[in-house]
Amino acid sequence: MRSLIPHMFSRSRRNLARWFTLSMGSILVIFATILYFLEAKEQLRAFDQELYNTTQLMAAGVEDGLYQEQQRISLEDVPILGGEALPFDNKIIYARWYTPKKQLLQFFGVTPSEQLNNKLGFQTIELSDRNKQLRQLTVPVFQDKQLIGYLEIAASLAPVEETLWSLRLFLIVGVPIALSLIGLTGWFLGGMAMQPIRQAYEQLQRFTADASHELRTPLQAIRNNAQFALLEPIDPSQQQSSLENIDQIAESMGMLISDLLFLARNEGQLKLETLKLVNLVSWLEALVEEYTHSAKAKNLEFTSQFPEQLVMLRINPDLMWQALTNLLSNACRYTLSGGRVCLRVFFESRWVVIEVQDTGIGIPEADLPHIFERFYRVDSVRSRHTGGFGLGLAISQQIVQVHEGQIIANSRLGEGSTFQIKLPFTPTSSP
Ligand code: ADP
Repeated sequence: MRSLIPHMFSRSRRNLARWFTLSMGSILVIFATILYFLEAKEQLRAFDQELYNTTQLMAAGVEDGLYQEQQRISLEDVPILGGEALPFDNKIIYARWYTPKKQLLQFFGVTPSEQLNNKLGFQTIELSDRNKQLRQLTVPVFQDKQLIGYLEIAASLAPVEETLWSLRLFLIVGVPIALSLIGLTGWFLGGMAMQPIRQAYEQLQRFTADASHELRTPLQAIRNNAQFALLEPIDPSQQQSSLENIDQIAESMGMLISDLLFLARNEGQLKLETLKLVNLVSWLEALVEEYTHSAKAKNLEFTSQFPEQLVMLRINPDLMWQALTNLLSNACRYTLSGGRVCLRVFFESRWVVIEVQDTGIGIPEADLPHIFERFYRVDSVRSRHTGGFGLGLAISQQIVQVHEGQIIANSRLGEGSTFQIKLPFTPTSSP
């Protein structure tokens, strides 16, 4: 099962990258196609405009009588081509004049038919021999509102084709490169998206494994005690002790399960409606009272130091109570008889610090970075002795974090430990 997980994550990552590439790629291809067709249309429009301007210039030349000296045909007002200095000159393949009766009058370029058969306006003509195209324009020419003939000119579409070919080449090379880049980005983004899910999954898996491991040991102990109690013949006092053991183990299993449920339920954000504005010092007095008694029972000296000023904090009192109880219980639990435990409140820049200090057995330096991890216990000898599951500090940390605070531990082996809960304090926290 475990080995399937990395495979599952990389498959999901691949799928994410694939879908990203597919969607972005489709958008890119559609966009490139639209761009190409718009450009083709624009190129043809500009070409047609130029061709049209050329016909206008040629027709105007005729109207002004520019070429009339070269007239070889007796019909009056029939235009004749000058044949030189034409605009658009080098691209014009042929030009033809027709009489108003559509009879050929004069031409240059390819020999045309005697009669004008073509429709008026623009036409694209395919040249079969060299796979090239011509753009032809046929227009009527008027002088003093009277039709004096028809002008037909054609120019090679090669410049337009060349521009469009360059654009096609750019897209043919550019689109696959862009698609590869999109694919890479998708893979990278997929990895980033999977990261928190993967972490959460691994955390959950570790937590489930730890929890089942923790439950397996007491379950086994219950079974052993039950089997022993069922043996015959048995001393009633031994049977009594086995049943008491079962009861004790079941109680501690109950505590473990409620801790686990607590961790699972209170993960994430704090509900705003659970927050209350609390006078920190008077709220802590109740805690002091409770722990003064239990410290006395263990022959510990319990003291407290609170600031004079009013400290109002918006907290979830039940959760914060639990967080502080865990710290104070640990301090009492891990401090030997005759030691001291102190609860303090003070300000540190924008934080209100609630500190629990003890003169207990302390925590080895190597264990200190791990003590907030779930099920982490400094050593099995301690935990067997104290009966903790290694969840208390994880719970406290979770509670402090949902209050947007910090929890810090300092300790020296054999000298004692200091735990600090830092909560954000702004003037608005006060009424
Ligand atoms: P537990 O329920 O086992 O005490 P915690 O999460 O509260 O679990 O603490 C984790 C470990 O950190 C404990 O096993 C204990 O060894 C160590 N620890 C916590 N608080 C103190 C302290 N005040 N002094 C010494 N060791 C401590």
